Amino acid sequence: MPGEPQQILEEIFGYDAFRGEQREIIEHLTGGKDALVLMPTGGGKSLCYQIPAIVNHRAGRGVTVVVSPLIALMHDQVAALHENGVEAAFLNSSLSAEQFSITRERMMRGELAMLYAAPERVTNAEFLADLETLSTAGLLAGFAIDEVHCVSQWGHDFRPEYIELRVLHERFPAVPRIALTATADALTRAEIVGNLDLGGAREFISSFDRPNIHYAIAEKRDAKKQLLRFIRERHVGESGIVYCLSRRKVEETANWLSEQGIPALPYHAGLDANTRRVHQDRFLREDGLVMTATIAFGMGIDKPDVRFVAHLDMPKNIEGYYQETGRAGRDGEPADAWMAYGLQDVVLQRNMLERGEAGERHKQVLRGKLDALLAMCESTGCRRVQLLEYFGEPAEPCGNCDNCVSPPETLDAGEPARMLLSCIYRCEQNFGSGHVFDVLRGNETEKVARFGHQRLSTFGVGAEYGEQQWRSVLRQLVARGYVRVDPEHFNVLRLAGEWRPFITSDAALPLRKAVKAARASSKSSGRASAGTGRAVVEPAPLDAAGEALFERLRAWRREQADARDVPAYVIFGNATLHEIALCRPATLEQLASVKGVGDAKLENFGAAVLELVAEPDDESAIVAA
Ligand code: ADP
Ligand code: ZN
Repeated sequence: MPGEPQQILEEIFGYDAFRGEQREIIEHLTGGKDALVLMPTGGGKSLCYQIPAIVNHRAGRGVTVVVSPLIALMHDQVAALHENGVEAAFLNSSLSAEQFSITRERMMRGELAMLYAAPERVTNAEFLADLETLSTAGLLAGFAIDEVHCVSQWGHDFRPEYIELRVLHERFPAVPRIALTATADALTRAEIVGNLDLGGAREFISSFDRPNIHYAIAEKRDAKKQLLRFIRERHVGESGIVYCLSRRKVEETANWLSEQGIPALPYHAGLDANTRRVHQDRFLREDGLVMTATIAFGMGIDKPDVRFVAHLDMPKNIEGYYQETGRAGRDGEPADAWMAYGLQDVVLQRNMLERGEAGERHKQVLRGKLDALLAMCESTGCRRVQLLEYFGEPAEPCGNCDNCVSPPETLDAGEPARMLLSCIYRCEQNFGSGHVFDVLRGNETEKVARFGHQRLSTFGVGAEYGEQQWRSVLRQLVARGYVRVDPEHFNVLRLAGEWRPFITSDAALPLRKAVKAARASSKSSGRASAGTGRAVVEPAPLDAAGEALFERLRAWRREQADARDVPAYVIFGNATLHEIALCRPATLEQLASVKGVGDAKLENFGAAVLELVAEPDDESAIVAA
């Protein structure tokens, strides 16, 4: 039937099967009930509300209001819906007064299947009055609240406007709501339910595994050079995001990468709005650009072919890390999440936390979150297992992370750790790491002599360990909270937490053996993830003629995208172009069976694509000429 979800999936979106829980979610919603959907980035959240919205609209039940936090995100979503022939629009400050009133009237007449707007718009009095009118006329089909973790006060993306969205349920209790997010640990989930009064909603929680992402965390030596090598070895000519903590470092890194011949642009909140927009647009539209950014960049960036996300500084918790790395490989093809991490990161994050404004109870929560991330960085086991277990999902070693691919050699650093703790104690918790290492290694420096530290019982007890190894022991101890680096006093080392029981125990401290600068491991093969049994399918390779056709299709797509002023993937995704280049459809019917080709796209682009496929490729054209 024309109004059936399955048919809409095929005809409008060009896909033949639902993914994961999409079908169940859609049926739940069209049945008039509320849902809370947790699905990883790239999992296919949009269809979960777009298809019910289309079903409802076709049945004469009017509009679904989609709450979305960012203007850029609304534009791209609406553009993509238009390309698929769906009546959708947005209301935001980018519209002229005239465009605004036209869109509003279309909504009031029930012409729109979806209306996108920001939370502050949706909750203002005028808009609520319009919704009242629609609701009375039976033309208010539902609410979809995207990026709903923004309602969480303790999360990394809190937006106070989101709390106000509660009013939607108070005013329109009978209108079904769907709330969606790609991050939510148990705490955030509870906040979402509490703050938005979603207690009656059914929760749909998908696996958070992203099997196509290869995770790697490297010990920081010369982070910039490590980054450069990582990009050169694995991602030449590909799009990626590099996250840094400070604006200054963002600028420096972008300049430096550009000097090294890797096209890179900076993005941070200190740049004016216009520059930010231009950089973001270029990143979305051009191939092979690296965006160097603070965490101000990324939410709502649904570019599917970001091939890597690199962190030059450690984020503050696993949610942040997961959210940021999740921007890689939304198209399901192999992608990399790479981080360089060192003692400075641990110290910096700890200090920011302690100096922050938060109250003690809140700080306690934040410390726990930071510790979980530190544990993951220091772990010698599977990264994915750690990541997923944090979200409450049991997992098996994955075979697609650095620790699985080349298991690190470990040693028990319990003994040196106790030496280090007692040396800090003997130095009266008054010296920085350099001096403490000198004492441990028995270096007779001027400072050692000045303080008479050659007479300490710990002088020279750790001569057999190198500086690198000591750093790694110290990092572990800081990560475990036994040592604190005091920022107020020249970064001197202080004993903290449960250091006493540890020093008198014979507990082990598994440590990764310091290795000479390891090469980035070989390009991740799209192997099956043992943890979930989900396979990452690497696309079938193209022959020379296929490659040539793929390039022609990409060039053609670029022209179409430019002419329509939309990102390239809104026309067709890479996977779709790849399949076309592989199967070389000769008829519209054959083309229609390619993934991502729906009716509207077939009508608008079908003939042009078939022509491109039929064209002889360049070489033979030259020979023929
Ligand atoms: P999310 O919002 O969860 O990050 P999207 O809704 O943007 O993910 O979907 C990610 C990609 O997967 C998009 O390119 C989308 O068109 C595609 N997709 C979604 N559902 C399906 C499906 N059932 N079959 C094939 N592709 C799908
Ligand atoms: Zn693993």
